[in-house]
Amino acid sequence: MPNPIDTLLESALSAPFCFGQVLVEKTTTECFVLSHRDDETMDRLQRFRCPEDAIEIAKYDDVGNYRPLKTAPNLRHGWRLELETLEDLRHALDYFYPGRLAVFAAWKSDKLRTTPLRETLDRQSGMYRVAAKISDSQVNDLVADFCRSNGGCLRTILWKRDADGAIASTKLPKDKFDPARDQATAANPPGSATPATAAIPATVPLLCQEACNLLVAECRKVVKGE
Ligand code: SF4
Repeated sequence: MPNPIDTLLESALSAPFCFGQVLVEKTTTECFVLSHRDDETMDRLQRFRCPEDAIEIAKYDDVGNYRPLKTAPNLRHGWRLELETLEDLRHALDYFYPGRLAVFAAWKSDKLRTTPLRETLDRQSGMYRVAAKISDSQVNDLVADFCRSNGGCLRTILWKRDADGAIASTKLPKDKFDPARDQATAANPPGSATPATAAIPATVPLLCQEACNLLVAECRKVVKGE
């Protein structure tokens, strides 16, 4: 039985597509070439050939800082990853953006369950239990700052603040909650290589179905006044 993610990728590969800041293209020899989407027209790129190379590429940003959040808009530039099979492509994309292909496949088949932030916070234990004490207005401000596409995170937020369906933050643009919108264009500062008005290949969204550990840690810091 074919892997459902491979099936999804095959249909997405009818044209070049972007997955976060990664541009995926199919060559005439049926291989795949991945690069930073802003490096599309650069010819002097460091060449890699194994899916596992994506682990190292994704580890540090352009100035050598560790990237704790793999969906932050700071993927380093200057590389080109050439892969021979669909399986290699699937592995590489999962190294760049762990778990995001599976979440996208679940969402496409209407099987994705999202978790409200309050539920995520309520199930924390140990030193993170206190994070649940964050107020709604503090959540509103924190999520607007920490999850914003411009400088924060490229995921599209699908979770709600609570079980009543309150929006995660009223301070984020509506596009941040729309899987049809390309978050990477919102992440680019004016004058960068991929302005919002440029011709953009099809985009496979990075979906956020529940608050990540980093946001939970930030909630704790707010409560503790750090
Ligand atoms: S909660 Fe989701 S959108 Fe916010 S920073 Fe974490 S992964 Fe990104």
